Order: sequence, then structure tokens, then C-alpha cells
Amino acid sequence: MTASYDVIVVGGGNAAMCAALSAQEHGARVLVLEKAPEAWRGGNGFFTAGGFRFAFKSFEELCELTDLADEEKAVMEVDPYTEDNFYDDLMRVTEDQADPDMAMLVVRESQATVRWMRDRGIRWIPMFGRQAYKVGNKFRFWGGLVLEAVGGGPGLIDMAYASAQKVGIDVRFEAKAIRLVTDDRGGVTGVVVRTAAGTESIPARAVVLASGGFEANGEMRTRYLGQDWELARVRGTPYNTGDGIRMALEVGAQPWGHWSGCHAVQWDLNAPWHGDRKVGDNFQKHSYPLGLIVNLRGERFVDEGADFRNYTYVRFGREVIKQPRRTAFQIFDQKVLHLLREEYRIREVTKAEDTTLEGLAGKLEIDVDGFLKTVKAFNAAVGPAEFNPAVKDGKGTTGITPPKSNWALPLDTPPYVGYAVTTGITFTFGGLHITPDAQVIDCELRPIPGLYAAGELVGGLFYHNYPGGSGLMAGSVFGRIAGRSAAMASRG
Ligand SMILES: Cc1cc2nc3c(=O)[nH]c(=O)nc-3n(C[C@H](O)[C@H](O)[C@H](O)COP(=O)(O)OP(=O)(O)OC[C@H]3O[C@@H](n4cnc5c(N)ncnc54)[C@H](O)[C@@H]3O)c2cc1C
Repeated sequence: MTASYDVIVVGGGNAAMCAALSAQEHGARVLVLEKAPEAWRGGNGFFTAGGFRFAFKSFEELCELTDLADEEKAVMEVDPYTEDNFYDDLMRVTEDQADPDMAMLVVRESQATVRWMRDRGIRWIPMFGRQAYKVGNKFRFWGGLVLEAVGGGPGLIDMAYASAQKVGIDVRFEAKAIRLVTDDRGGVTGVVVRTAAGTESIPARAVVLASGGFEANGEMRTRYLGQDWELARVRGTPYNTGDGIRMALEVGAQPWGHWSGCHAVQWDLNAPWHGDRKVGDNFQKHSYPLGLIVNLRGERFVDEGADFRNYTYVRFGREVIKQPRRTAFQIFDQKVLHLLREEYRIREVTKAEDTTLEGLAGKLEIDVDGFLKTVKAFNAAVGPAEFNPAVKDGKGTTGITPPKSNWALPLDTPPYVGYAVTTGITFTFGGLHITPDAQVIDCELRPIPGLYAAGELVGGLFYHNYPGGSGLMAGSVFGRIAGRSAAMASRG
């Protein structure tokens, strides 16, 4: 089958579906090419919690995006998350490296894009389970991230595909884009695709690349992220192997952003090599601010309570790969166990429990003497402030390195429980350079005619770290812009 389309979107995740919907509503005939089989549709988007970070001025403004009943609203406590807050978070966690114009565009367009998605059938609910602590009768939300798509990542993808089907967007699965077709002036005029039936060239007036980063490509990980990154577990789809980036570089696109950087988290030590669609993101272990993290020598190596986990989990995920055997252990006692997130209670978890610290260390194969020394020093260093997991409570340690700056409770109430983790890579930060219209820029700093990009394969926004929930948000903002720009370009 060879047909002519105005816009071809390469990839079938969140950024791609936003691009496809946006291009279609701007009058384009759209084809989505997805390399994965339909059973794997949705890319990394499927594996997410569906959490979107966006700016809102008031609780009332936030509620307009949901279908919450009055009784539900009454038990929520949510501080405004302004454009300034979002921008400052982005710049802070990226060590001020994020392109300020890109960051501002994402921030300014964030709420408008969430509204736009809602009008296209994506429904939203508060993240009671993951982003709020119950204090008294109220759910106190923290960390600037409040709403997720109904049904999480799988729900987000189902709703996006339902919306695309409703408006007649063609989607082809098991259709791998292998090359961009260019004219004699370097403009992109189509895509070469490989399917089980063979190879074909599909012409288009514009192409949007939204085929993810190179996190599932062990060779590229080692080449760009460094030694041992081929040994990281892949949290999501095995299909994001850097194809879109490679195809764009082949036609002269400029490499941009933090090529040696990636998003990574603490992930169950025995998780499979790539994501499992049944377990989803539940291999992650994100309640570490409530406990201690030690390595096989029994030593702490990060300030577990430096900030809310949204702002530290990436940094710490990347630290684990530097530890002996790329392994760490999160240790809790009975005082906080009830506060751990649901992912700690799945069947596929690597954990041990014991009534003594020695016993726990032995079961987890942690050096016993090193561990006992660490815990003794830690317990003695804990300050007197009151513990409150819903705010940065300032309950910190004094006189130990690294310190624990908040939520420092002595480890003294058995049985003790330890969870074994390694590094799970989420997505890579290096990629393509785009204009504010999401058009890909070449090495001579000129926009490449007919070529647009959105999602993980765009560089320049995330460096070192990212504030949780801004990956989907940035993909949606630039997907929407890329689709619109591509549709407009296709009209000539
Ligand atoms: C476990 C996990 C949890 C996460 N949680 C969150 C969260 O809660 N909030 C948040 O903001 N972000 C989260 N993220 C990050 C988020 O998933 C990404 O930022 C976002 O989904 C990227 O969207 P995308 O469309 O660029 O890529 P993807 O959704 O990965 O889509 C890329 C698609 O391109 C396809 N493809 C690849 N090569 C080709 C080719 N040659 N031809 C055709 N198709 C191709 C792939 O098969 C894939 O379907 C999470 C990621 C993971 C893995």
C-alpha cells in the first residue's frame, strides 16, 4: 500500500499522537508510522503514570480540568503552581542549562495544552496515591505535580488513540521508518518504511519525528552516556533505539542538548532488561526520602531527604550505577512502612525483612559491619524537629556526610525492611535542535524544510535532571506545535 499523505508522524507515543491530532485538525491528511506491534502501542507513554506537570494559578483553575465532585475537592489541599514556579523548577533541576526560550514555551503553553488535550477526549484526575500525603482528613499535595490521565499511562494512550481513530487518522503498526527522503535542496519529502511486506517509500509534504530517544539501544547508551550504561535496565519500551535521531542526523540535523545525560531512577534489582507492560512503572522505588539508601559496603552515598522525590529521583537513579555492582538498598523501619508507595507492595519485588539490622544486612548481602556503623552514626545525628512527610520538615541530621536534610527519623523500630535496586533508564536527553515552531535545525543553523520533531528526541530542554511530569508535558506541547507547523507547511 503506498498512499500520499500531507503529514507523516514517525512514532506512536504521546508526542506523536498529539502531533497527529494537531496536524489533522489543521487540515492535514495524517499517517502515523509505528515500529512496534499494536500490542506494544504507546511507546514509553504507556509505561508512565500519566502525570502531567503544568502551571495553574489557583485550585479552582486546576479543578476546571477535572470532573471532581465537591466532596472530593473538599478533602484536597493544593497550592498554586505558577508559571514562575514551573520555570524556576525547570531551570533549577537542569542546573540552569535548559534553553530558556524552550523552557518558557513549555511553561506558558502547559495549561493550554492540557486543556486542548481534554477537549480531545483526555480526562484528568488528581494523583492522590503518588503526589499527596493524608494529613488529618485532608490530602496535602506536594511537588507541583497534581493531575494524571485517567487510567495512568495506559489510559492516556487508549484515550489518545480513540481520539485519533474518531477523526480518521491512519495508523500503521510494525512499520519502521528507516530513512528520510529528501529533495535536491535538502527538504524532507517522505519516509522510507520497512514492514514485513518489504520496503516502500511514502511521500509526504512534511514529516514529524516523534520516535523517542536512544535509551533502548545499549550500544548508543555506552557511546554517549558512558561505561556501564549498557548494563542499566530499560524502564519502558524496547523500541526506542534512536532511529529518529539517526535519520535526522543523516540529513544534516544538528545534534543538540545533553547527549551524555539521561533520566534514570532506582529500579528493582531483578527487573527484566526492558519494561514489562503488566508491571508498568511499579519496578520503580520512590519512597526513599522516608528511609536510608546504602550500597553493598553499607555506606550512604546521597542525601535521601535533599528535596521532594520529584526533584531528586533522577540524580539518585544515576548515582546507583556508580555503586559496587550497580546495586543499592533502600532501608525502612516500621514507623514509615505504611507511608510507602504502592509499588513496594507488588509481587515482583526484591526485598528482605528481619528483626535485627545485622540480620537484614546478612539477608541482603550488605557488609554487616559497614551497615551497622552507618546506622549508628545516622541515628545519633538525627535532629529533634517534628517529622512531616507532606512538607520539607527540616528534620535533618548534623555532623554526618552526606547529611539527610529532611525527614530524618532514626532507624530503630524493627522489623526492618530493605529493598534492592539498580539503575533503570527512562529516556535520554540528547537529540535534535528545533525552532519554536518545532522545525528541525541543521548544522548550519537553518530550519530543514519539511522536518519537525517532538518528544524525547528533542534536545535542549532537559539536562542532568528533570522535574517529574514534564516529559509528557513537553512532548504534548511540542507535539501539538509540530503537528500544526507541519500541517501549515504542507499547505505550502
Ligand atoms: C516507566 C516510565 C514512567 C514515566 N513516567 C512519566 C510520568 O509520569 N510523567 C512524565 O511526564 N513522563 C514520564 N515518563 C517519561 C515519558 O514516558 C516520556 O517523556 C514520553 O512518553 C516520551 O514521549 P515520546 O512520544 O517522545 O516517546 P514514546 O512515548 O516512547 O514514543 C516513541 C515511539 O516511537 C516508536 N518508534 C521508535 N523508532 C521508530 C521507527 N523507526 N519508526 C516508527 N516508530 C518508531 C516507538 O516504538 C515508540 O512507540 C516515564 C517514562 C517511563 C519509561
